[in-house]
Amino acid sequence: PSRPPSVLTARGLHARYGGFAALGGVDLEVRPGRVTAVVGPNGAGKSTLFHCLAGTLRPARGKVLFDGRDITRLPAHARTRLGIARTFQQLAVFPSLTVEENVRVGAEQGRGGAEEAVERALALFGLDGTVRARPAAGLPTGTLRRVELARAFAGDPRVLLLDEPAAGLDTAEVSALARVLGALAADGTALLVVEHDLDLVADLADVVHVMAAGRIVASGPPGRVLGTSTAREAPA
Ligand code: ADP
Ligand code: MG
Repeated sequence: PSRPPSVLTARGLHARYGGFAALGGVDLEVRPGRVTAVVGPNGAGKSTLFHCLAGTLRPARGKVLFDGRDITRLPAHARTRLGIARTFQQLAVFPSLTVEENVRVGAEQGRGGAEEAVERALALFGLDGTVRARPAAGLPTGTLRRVELARAFAGDPRVLLLDEPAAGLDTAEVSALARVLGALAADGTALLVVEHDLDLVADLADVVHVMAAGRIVASGPPGRVLGTSTAREAPA
């Protein structure tokens, strides 16, 4: 079968923080029904790439395309509306809102907004029990990660950008996460995952890009790419 066309594309992306070049020309394609992974040591520029794709950072040079359309100058909320949803490495839930209210925010910011999207997202991430009525403040990390995922998914995204979704999860939670993300990809969602857990990446990814010092230094299927020393370098 032929490869589905890229839904989200980075073309020659450069990004700077003041005088510091955090991205030095990144090309990347995110395809529907596929899990694309980005790995590499701390400081490589993985989160910066996410910011450029999500619209929270304006690249210094290069383009971001959605369905072939140039969205480089489109603000983040407009990209969310198009169907580009993200989670943050630093969790970003509203602490005073309940789990359900947090997920509803995601539905309203995304493409849909329907009540059934909220219910579907709560059920998919195991949040449809009594926990749905609890304020996010004080919930354990594993639950908060699921709230973030459910919030992103409730907007019926075409692309999900996940920055370290397994961070802070125990082994059982990582397995559950792998199953859900695999199901989302099988359903046609395009997933871009930054992740330090290389076993999860090996399990889940169709394509892996290794980043170092603001560039992609190796790309390919996990079996071929994850043996390299840069990919295996421990996070700080
Ligand atoms: P990764 O996600 O791969 O760990 P980041 O994209 O967070 O890497 O960071 C890439 C580089 O940019 C690092 O050297 C980091 O210190 C720097 N950096 C990230 N965010 C900022 C910022 N807001 N201001 C200045 N430098 C930053
Ligand atoms: Mg990061």
